[in-house]
Amino acid sequence: MTLSMSDILAARKTISGKVIRAPLLPSRYFSERAGAPFFMKMETMQPTGAFKLRGATNAALNAPEGTTKLTCCSTGNHGRAVAHAAHTLGLQATICMSSLVPKAKVDGIIALGAQAHIKGRSQDEALAECRRLSQSEGVYEIPPFDHPLVIAGQGTIGLEMLEDQPDMAAILVPLSGGGLAAGVALAAKSINPKIKVIGITMERGAAMFASVQAGRPVEVEEVASLADSLGGGIGLDNQLTFTMCRDLLDDIILVSEDEIYHAQQALYYEEAQVAEGASVVGIAALLAGKLPIINGPIGTIITGRNLDMGDFTRIIAGEDITLGNDHLKGRPYAP
Ligand SMILES: *Cc1c(COP(=O)(O)O)cnc(C)c1O
Repeated sequence: MTLSMSDILAARKTISGKVIRAPLLPSRYFSERAGAPFFMKMETMQPTGAFKLRGATNAALNAPEGTTKLTCCSTGNHGRAVAHAAHTLGLQATICMSSLVPKAKVDGIIALGAQAHIKGRSQDEALAECRRLSQSEGVYEIPPFDHPLVIAGQGTIGLEMLEDQPDMAAILVPLSGGGLAAGVALAAKSINPKIKVIGITMERGAAMFASVQAGRPVEVEEVASLADSLGGGIGLDNQLTFTMCRDLLDDIILVSEDEIYHAQQALYYEEAQVAEGASVVGIAALLAGKLPIINGPIGTIITGRNLDMGDFTRIIAGEDITLGNDHLKGRPYAP
């Protein structure tokens, strides 16, 4: 099973009018910091608050005949996306998730008319429950990243970024299971083979990074992070995203919790944008001076805005944050 640009072009046709074509916003401040034009693809504008609506909508619209119920395992944003897609198509949805998922995300899913199944303390345990459910008749599972229709849906972001900014030299992609990075890299490199696509993720529990380093999918310990949407494994039986990320990404850069905290502040104070921790890892890498030299415009994807408002207001105020059993020291914003 391999994917090509034609899958992404087909996905674009399928989801056109069903998802928002988010704007590519130029940032004066981040351009200054980068020494190159810097653009942000504002996927926070999707009705579910995250880009995952693209892949979920593409998969749902290609569901087999006789499907009555969609199911998935999700850290939150994919669950919302599947719930939203089910609602739009008049189907039921059952979303399986681990107990590490923030309450705001669980509530969001229930509010979309879906059932929430909370199972275990890791993505893998929630996934096993999802697999069990998907054995029943009429139930169609939409995986969060390792599925051709999902990857193709996320890849439409890369297509749109290069349509709007054809001379883009690099794209910084928040990286977890790698559906987004695989799709965006495939689209971008099909259009311009010279473009750099760099995956960015958090130091804590970076499963794709550890897997690429090991040369095969490996498990990592799941820990609480400001970038909670980047948590979870890539699956030991990974079919597509591991090899695609290994082969298509030019680099994977890791950022710390402090750097994510500061980037969330910077995006808020400099550009008045509210975004979750997972969304700002590209900005975090830029501000931390972790990017390689890039000769030309840089783009990043501001992937979502589904966050715990209590934590977010504490970050904006420069206050301390509790992360699982850890304590993250706050600091007022200083450019
Ligand atoms: C899922 C998600 C990502 C990462 O996408 P993958 O395809 O799993 O790599 C990044 N940001 C947000 C907000 C997400 O919900």
